[in-house]
Amino acid sequence: MAIITKNIQGAKTILDGGGLVAIPTETVYGLAAKATDPAALASIFKTKGRPSNNPLILHFPDFKAMAPYIKAIPDGVRLLAAKFWPGPLTLLLPKTTLVPDAVTAGLPRVAVRVPDHKLTLGLLNQLDYPLAAPSANPSGYISPTKPSHVNIQLGDKIPMILDGGNCEKGLESTILGWNDDGIPTIYRKGIITKGDLETVLNKEVCIYDSHSQTLEAPGMLSSHYAPNTRTLLSSTISEKIDENKHLKIGLISFKNAYEGDVAITKEIVLSSDGALDEVAYKLYAAMRELDGLGLDVLLIEKVPDTGIGKAINDRLTRSAITGTK
Ligand code: AMP
Ligand code: MG
Repeated sequence: MAIITKNIQGAKTILDGGGLVAIPTETVYGLAAKATDPAALASIFKTKGRPSNNPLILHFPDFKAMAPYIKAIPDGVRLLAAKFWPGPLTLLLPKTTLVPDAVTAGLPRVAVRVPDHKLTLGLLNQLDYPLAAPSANPSGYISPTKPSHVNIQLGDKIPMILDGGNCEKGLESTILGWNDDGIPTIYRKGIITKGDLETVLNKEVCIYDSHSQTLEAPGMLSSHYAPNTRTLLSSTISEKIDENKHLKIGLISFKNAYEGDVAITKEIVLSSDGALDEVAYKLYAAMRELDGLGLDVLLIEKVPDTGIGKAINDRLTRSAITGTK
C-alpha cells in the first residue's frame, strides 16, 4: 500500500525522480507526475490504464507560473483567472513546445488550472515544473474524493498519497476553451456554471455538443465515472424501484428517503436539505460505498437540472450508460 502522508518534501523527491504521487485538490484526487518528463507521463497512463488519446490537465501554483507553457492568452483569460483561480476551472489554451505531446494527446491546446488546496499549492510552489494529473482512479471508474479511495485501487502501484482529507467540492473541474470562432465553450460541466462564466466574461458561453462534432476532448467519451454495478438513473425513482423490486437494490436519493414498500438493501440520502453542493461533495463516496456491496442494481435519483445540478446530472448520465459490467 502507498504511504499516506502530509510530507511535501517527500512528495517532491518522488516527483523530481519521475515517480507518481496522488495529490489532493478541491475537486478530486489527482495522480500527479512531472509534466516535462515523458517517462513519468507514460507511467500515469500505464497506472490508470488510460487510453493515450485522453489528454491530461497541467496544475500550476499560480497564473504567472503558467506563462512559459502557453503561446497565446485569449481575451477573458485574465479575468477568469483573477475570479476563479485557485479553483475548479480548467482552461484550454494553445501550448508551447515545452508541453510534451503526451500531455495533450497531440492536440494543440493544453488544459491548465490552479487547484485550490493548501497542501498541493505548497507542493507546486516547491517545484520548477507543472504537475500533470488526471483523476487518481483506474480509467473509466468513479473519481476518488478521499485518500482511502486512491489507496484501495492504486495503493499497490504508487509510492505515496498526499493526505489532504476529503475533497471539498467532490466533482471534477469545469473545462472552458475557445472554439474556432473564438466563442468561449464549456467542454466539461462543473461546479463553476455557464452563468458564473458569462457573468465574468460578459458574453454568452456555449456548451460543446459532443454528439454532433468530432471528438476534440477524448475524456468526454460517454463511458466514464462508472461503478461496476449496473447503474440506472431516474427522476421518477419509485417507478424504477418497482421495476427492479426482485433484485438487491442500492439506492442513492437526492433529498427524500424512499417511503414505499419495496425492500432496499442500502439507501443513502445525499442532502436532506436538497443542497446541490452537498450532493456534489458526497456523491462519489456514496457511489463507491454502494458499488462495494455486491448489489444487483444501483438506482440513482437525478437532481434538479439547475446550477451545479447540470454538472451532477452530466456525470450521473455517463455513469449510468456504462454501469453494466
Ligand atoms: P481527468 O483525467 O479525469 O482529470 O480529466 C481530464 C479531462 O480534461 C478529460 O476530460 C480530458 O479529456 C480533458 N482535457 C485535458 N486536456 C485537454 C485538451 N487539450 N483538450 C480537450 N480536453 C482536454
Ligand atoms: Mg478522470
